[in-house]
Amino acid sequence: MPHDEGVRTYLVLTPWRLCAGAAVAAALVVMMVTPWSSTVAPWAQTASGAGIGADLQGKIDRYEAASAVPLILAWLSPVVVAIVWFLLSRMGTQGLRRWIHTRSGVIAAVALLVVSGIPGSLWLASVRREFGLNLRSGPQDFLVAIMAGAMTIAVAVAVVSALAWIVGRWPNRWWIVLAPLAAAVALMGSWALPLFGSQADRAVPPAVAVEVDVLSQAGGVDAPDLRTAVMSQWASTVNAVVTGYGASSTITYHDGLFVDLTAPEVRAISAHEVAHIVSQDVWWASVEAALVCAAAVAAIAGALSSRRIRRWSGATDGVGVVVAMTPFLALAIAALLALSVPVVATVSRPIELRADHEAVELLVISGLAANEVRASDELASALRTMTSINLGGVNPPQWRYALFGTHPSLAQRLGVLAAADANADVSGDQVPATRTSRWQQPN
Ligand SMILES: [Zn+2]
Repeated sequence: MPHDEGVRTYLVLTPWRLCAGAAVAAALVVMMVTPWSSTVAPWAQTASGAGIGADLQGKIDRYEAASAVPLILAWLSPVVVAIVWFLLSRMGTQGLRRWIHTRSGVIAAVALLVVSGIPGSLWLASVRREFGLNLRSGPQDFLVAIMAGAMTIAVAVAVVSALAWIVGRWPNRWWIVLAPLAAAVALMGSWALPLFGSQADRAVPPAVAVEVDVLSQAGGVDAPDLRTAVMSQWASTVNAVVTGYGASSTITYHDGLFVDLTAPEVRAISAHEVAHIVSQDVWWASVEAALVCAAAVAAIAGALSSRRIRRWSGATDGVGVVVAMTPFLALAIAALLALSVPVVATVSRPIELRADHEAVELLVISGLAANEVRASDELASALRTMTSINLGGVNPPQWRYALFGTHPSLAQRLGVLAAADANADVSGDQVPATRTSRWQQPN
């Protein structure tokens, strides 16, 4: 083989090369940007005292026990349905196999995947209703689930139809445009999403807005947009979230937060959310999502263009391959989505721990809290209050924490805040940590 041809072959972009490149880039970003902390690893010890009363702890334990099976059902149902569908597509009766490999079979596969998660979600909603967390009635839950399911099916069918058409039109090159497009949608979508608030929004109390301004200034970032989501008619739980990045950064408070938390507690939660903005957590999460989307599209292209897979599917044209490959693609996508749950949780926990830590710093630098001890106490109080309202994660079972815990347990978060307190109290006569004691207690 002439030398220059070898170089050309090496440089040609193939779907699998793009997939590998995007996947490696995603892994590198995750490795470099995540503030890895062994204290919140999936196997971290979560059991310790959190100063929660026995009554409340008992109620939380009962809620966690009652919600365990529906939670797992909602998580794994799509995978189980995809496995059954895949097996039917290979081993069902001839008529069924033929129908699965038609366009209506593709639509049925998409619909089944979306619908499969609904029973688990409805069961979970009813458990949450039993514990006073969900204020919707059973029929209301059913209606919401059906509406959301129908919309998801419509969007998914439209996307799959568009994909099949594009693959049919440009069988060999479609992914060169669609992989970057998928990445751009992920990146732009998370920027633009806050601009289309779907809930009936209210302004936040003026005092809260002033505090967010001061906290943002202390963190060296522009003040985000602020919103109050009117959730209290549907759920008794309270939360605050950051969405968007850069100029579209938005903090959304559940309206119940201003009723159930004290002013210093709300301020501490604001500081935690501003800390996410200062660390650009939404931006980096969007970059990671964009790279994963590009890798996924490239992987689909790689599978569809593989000669062996084409032969195996028995299809001749591009659309035919998409139709023939649907059971396999559905299984792969369902499995990857299920796998992404513990991966996202594992990456999220250290980021949340950092936001707690930085929230304390922001409260002190901004002058909103007199000192570090005071700031830590306010945040600890806010976290305790929110946990007692949301009945979530004081000392979650290890499996639940590893799979679904996007936040450290309350015990862990309080532990870190208490450690910060202890550090603030350090004076000259404190014995410095030796190498050995550091090793014994990694932090
Ligand atoms: Zn957070």
